Amino acid sequence: MPYFPETMPQPTPVMYEADFWNACKEKHLRFQSCADCGQLRHPPTPICPHCHSTNIKWVDAPEEAEVFSFTVVHHASHPAVKSKLPYVVGILTFEGMDGVRLVSNVTDIPTDQVKIGMKVKIWWDDIGDGNFVPRFRPVESK
Ligand SMILES: [Zn+2]
Repeated sequence: MPYFPETMPQPTPVMYEADFWNACKEKHLRFQSCADCGQLRHPPTPICPHCHSTNIKWVDAPEEAEVFSFTVVHHASHPAVKSKLPYVVGILTFEGMDGVRLVSNVTDIPTDQVKIGMKVKIWWDDIGDGNFVPRFRPVESK
C-alpha cells in the first residue's frame, strides 16, 4: 500500500527528468552530474548551471541521507494527503554529494521526533504502475 492514498497524483516528469524517474522504477536513486566539470545537481536540468555543459552522467546515491531541514505539514494542499496529516517533508543531503538536496518524506517516526542532522535510510514506496518514489525513515527503525 503506498504511503499516500492512490488518489495522489503520479510524478509527471518532463523530458530531462525522465532518467531520474526511470532509475526510481528500478529502485535506484541516482543524481545528475556534469560529465565535464563533475558538479552534482538535483533536480535534473538539461544544462550544467556551473559550466553550461550539456554532457550528463548519472551517479548512484548512498542509501543513507541526513536531514538538512524539514517541515511538518498540517494543511492538506491536495485532497489525497488529508489522511496522512501531519506528515514530514524533509530536505535531505547525501555524504559525498555536495550540490544535491532531495525533497522527500521522512516516515515511520512521530513528527515531533524528527531532528535536523538525523540519519535516514531510503525505502521505496510502490505507488503503482511500476513507479516507485524514494522516501526515508530513521536509520534506527526497520
Ligand atoms: Zn559542469
